[in-house]
Amino acid sequence: MCGIVGYLGKRNAYPVLIKGLKRLEYRGYDSAGVALLTKDGNLQVYKTKGKVSDLETYAADKDTTGTVGIAHTRWATHGEPNSTNAHPHISYMGNLAIIHNGIIENYAVLKKQLQEHGIEFKSNTDTEVLVQLIEYVRTKRETDLLTAVRIALRSVIGAYAIAILDKNDPDQIIAARKSSPLVVGIGEEEFFLGSDASPIIEYTDKVIYLDDKDIAVIRRGEEVEVVDFNNEKMEHEVTTVELNLAQIEKGGFPHFMLKEIFEQPECLKDCMRGRVNVEANNVTLSAIIDNRKHLINPRRIIIVACGTSWHAGLIGKQLIEDFCQIPVEVEYASEFRYSKPVINEQDVVIAISQSGETADTLAAIELAKSKGAFIYGICNAIGSSISRATNTGSYIHVGPEIGVASTKAFTGQVTVLTMLALALGKERGTIDNLRYTRVLEALNEVPEKMEQLLTQGDTIKDISRIFTYAHNFLYLGRGYNYPVALEGALKLKEISYIHAEGYPAAEMKHGPIALIDDEMPVVVVATKNVLYDKVVSNIQEIKARKARVIAIVSEGDETICKMADSVIELPHTEECLEPLLASIPLQMLAYYIAVAKGKDVDQPRNLAKSVTVE
Ligand code: GLU
Repeated sequence: MCGIVGYLGKRNAYPVLIKGLKRLEYRGYDSAGVALLTKDGNLQVYKTKGKVSDLETYAADKDTTGTVGIAHTRWATHGEPNSTNAHPHISYMGNLAIIHNGIIENYAVLKKQLQEHGIEFKSNTDTEVLVQLIEYVRTKRETDLLTAVRIALRSVIGAYAIAILDKNDPDQIIAARKSSPLVVGIGEEEFFLGSDASPIIEYTDKVIYLDDKDIAVIRRGEEVEVVDFNNEKMEHEVTTVELNLAQIEKGGFPHFMLKEIFEQPECLKDCMRGRVNVEANNVTLSAIIDNRKHLINPRRIIIVACGTSWHAGLIGKQLIEDFCQIPVEVEYASEFRYSKPVINEQDVVIAISQSGETADTLAAIELAKSKGAFIYGICNAIGSSISRATNTGSYIHVGPEIGVASTKAFTGQVTVLTMLALALGKERGTIDNLRYTRVLEALNEVPEKMEQLLTQGDTIKDISRIFTYAHNFLYLGRGYNYPVALEGALKLKEISYIHAEGYPAAEMKHGPIALIDDEMPVVVVATKNVLYDKVVSNIQEIKARKARVIAIVSEGDETICKMADSVIELPHTEECLEPLLASIPLQMLAYYIAVAKGKDVDQPRNLAKSVTVE
């Protein structure tokens, strides 16, 4: 989950590395560090607990010269976040510096073996084992660094993206990956490394996405060479990235999260572009056209995902069952991978992940693949591991999401699932033409209605001030809006650290109602649909227990307006599309409450954007 940056070229490496770390800080931010080979030929390592800005302060009066370096922003898995455990880690001979993203599962065994050879460890991390092992192999076998890395990695179990710098070789960085992302950028007489392309695109749009078990040798004045653990040359295409700087900068917003909330109308247009065609009354997803035989008539569909993507999956289940009449199960990828699922070739597994690097989801895909299922990926990050591991898929095309709490990726995922359900339903003949057209037209109007909703920012800001005091929140919804309640509660938890629970509204009386009193605000998604009257009764029950109610209602609603303490109106749409609209005020509510509480909205504690570890 950490961020990795590397530079080798003609510029001063330090500013490039710091800027790159800031771009990747969303991936981890409990400590940061940099290793440089300075002008005088010294290997200098500066690292500190805290954020990249703390590292800058720490290194302000130090020697930051040199044209080659590696840098890291950490999300601790092994060893508490402090400056000793921060990366880079140095080998026992003082020659090698390493940065690492991932987990070395057999680190304890390896560490013990190395300690028996008299090697002393400085940190509590699993990472340090790697650098000590590589140094040990190199010294014992009197071999070059690449050979030592190849040999050492053969005995390593786990996930890693690593970069290594050698004090005695200022013209080389060696990088390798397995189950953690790594991208090499190729400029004019300079090279870059990044966990994703965001630290690179300012300098070049030419990149190589490394594959699992690739080792990249980056040498000054030479072409990047990629080999496997047996030193076989691996061919790699140089890809052009289509990212621009504006997409990864805040553009005048105080936080990425707010920017991303406001970007949603445009993002959904991008997501639907070339796919939704109202004039032709058609939704086209190339994945479905190309894979009819697998997708049209599956025995069932299993959706695997984690966190927010799992909530999108719950909405996907309702859409697919509703339009396609295919049974759908939604599983937490982390549970699925260790279960004994009964899957066969007639099943389709839909894997949803914003980053496309979620370790649990990747493992779930591998399991389903081994049983012969056909795998459909829904990702945002182009070229990510999941998009490569699946048989087919659809990108959500919402652009980079940097705020750790997902917003536009969620609505993008729901949009793709809606298009998928519509397209499949039509192919199968399970959705009637009238409904197909109605939903299609309404989907096309969602961005415009989102715009309308976003103008209510000030109202939501005012509401959020009233409720900032609360220690607990309950979120309720029914049908299509039940996952919206779950997602609303998750958003609040993630960024404001207020405890919140999402429930199907009718479940309230089977337990959670015991919690309700005048200190427990309840957010209810209560739009005018078939279950409206039932939700009205639920609100009565809540009010009778003196809780304050924030209701998300359909425009023009009069009944709930009289009962609720605060009301946010949603423009009318098809019921199955309400999640796309109802999510917006809930995202804003969480955002403004977190801001009012002075929390770090874009980088909430203990979280990281891309969960590349188990
Ligand atoms: N497992 C390593 C550590 O705890 C790397 C974590 C990361 O990916 O940031 O230091």
